[in-house]
Amino acid sequence: MSKADIGLIGLGVMGANLALNIAEKGHTIAVNNRSTAKIDAFVEAAQAEGLAERVLPEADLVAFVQSVKKPRSIIIMVKAGKPVDDMIEQLLPLLDEGDAILECGNSLFSDTQRRFDYLKPKGIGYLGVGVSGGAEGARHGPSIMVGGSKAQWHDAEPVLTSIAAKFKGEPCVAWLGEGGAGHFVKTIHNGIEYGDMQMIAEVYGVMRDGLGMDAAACAEVFKRWNEGPLNSYLIEITGHVLEAIDGESGTPLVDMILDRAGQKGTGVWSAIAAQQLGVPATAIEGAVAARSISSRKQERIAAEALYGKRQGKVDITIDDLEQALLAGKIVSYTQGFSVIASASEEQGWGLKLATIARIWRAGCIIRSRFLDQMASAFAGDAATNLLMVPAFATLMKEASPALRRVVSSGALGELPLICLSSSLAYFDSYRQARGTANLIQGQRDFFGSHGFEIEGRGADLHGDWPSLVEQAAE
Ligand code: NDP
Repeated sequence: MSKADIGLIGLGVMGANLALNIAEKGHTIAVNNRSTAKIDAFVEAAQAEGLAERVLPEADLVAFVQSVKKPRSIIIMVKAGKPVDDMIEQLLPLLDEGDAILECGNSLFSDTQRRFDYLKPKGIGYLGVGVSGGAEGARHGPSIMVGGSKAQWHDAEPVLTSIAAKFKGEPCVAWLGEGGAGHFVKTIHNGIEYGDMQMIAEVYGVMRDGLGMDAAACAEVFKRWNEGPLNSYLIEITGHVLEAIDGESGTPLVDMILDRAGQKGTGVWSAIAAQQLGVPATAIEGAVAARSISSRKQERIAAEALYGKRQGKVDITIDDLEQALLAGKIVSYTQGFSVIASASEEQGWGLKLATIARIWRAGCIIRSRFLDQMASAFAGDAATNLLMVPAFATLMKEASPALRRVVSSGALGELPLICLSSSLAYFDSYRQARGTANLIQGQRDFFGSHGFEIEGRGADLHGDWPSLVEQAAE
């Protein structure tokens, strides 16, 4: 075979599927992996799919790099963190000016920015590429969020465009901005995914514990919802998960799965980024907190023994739950996009919210009908807060009363709705022209002389608190 169009290192779950996708789209690909067993297994898989003639397996890194056409595009799909830095160091002496490394794992965006800055003066392009859609997406069409060196993006663009998911024929891939922009957007995508999943789980909890519905009945509801405004991949798979029956016991599988959720870090990174930027992201924070509480199973068992079982009755309808989920989702996406807009401003990335919504419409875990509406809304409006975009303001006005009914009924029924209730609280805080931070400012000045502002009198004013207290006591 002549030289390969592109190279890929790391034939784990994601790397192997991406490589098969690339070969299937007609590109030749050189592949390499630390352990040779994975190279052999990959070659077998490529043979089974009739793609072996486009695959160039190379266990030796030097031979691998030399087998890729110049300017080289080399994908790294290894474990995030130190393995990425180690791989960059191994590749560096083997690459030529103008070549590019495309790192496609779930890397922390600040690591990507650091690597981009490190490689730029050496003439090596660095692209931090967020890939969403799991193994299935990698194999048949993921959503691809590219950040980093623009020149080298153009070299890799034909391959990435051909393998990306398509929404009505439009590829779900875009170069979003320099440095860590792609991985930042992927991180917030995952944060939004956490919020979506948690709100779905909360609604399921209301159906199960508040309305006494079994898994099959819940599955029916989610299937129906998937035909309406909530239509999305996560609603669809929720229906499938709820209807699955365990072959051994004959009972719903979901009832047997332990109620302890795992997390790998992107949700926490999203929440930290939001906090550092000073952007409220209560839905993401709530979702991360809910997973942490879920992992403390023994503590929860002890607490239930102490406080007693929840009474769990609610007075709401399935339609209320659908509308509540829609309203919660609007708030969660509002927050996620606000975090992105703020980071873009701080980093000078020039991120386009409409483009991001567009490339999330297919291939990724949060793909939904809703994102198509969002792409149009951001395209036609300068607002970065979705709640202020007219089309979404109309939706929110219609759906928020149901969110209020669900949250209040859930609270009285002792059902935990961390994400839904924090979304409602955000909405109510955001829409109040007169808040309560006047009191906070008074307190801050009282104990720390931090100052406050009075319209018409100026900023950085102080109260003479000892005499004000004395005066009030008289
Ligand atoms: P796997 O665990 O399936 O594969 C990990 C790969 O990394 C293997 O090829 C492994 O090689 C290689 N590797 C690990 N450590 C080193 C090292 N020190 N030096 C060289 N190679 C190393 O992982 P995934 O494919 O699931 O994930 C890869 C990346 O993609 C991660 O960043 C992950 O977060 C991200 N991701 C995963 C998704 C998923 O759904 N799984 C979705 C989106 C992104 P070896 O065979 O030698 O061990």
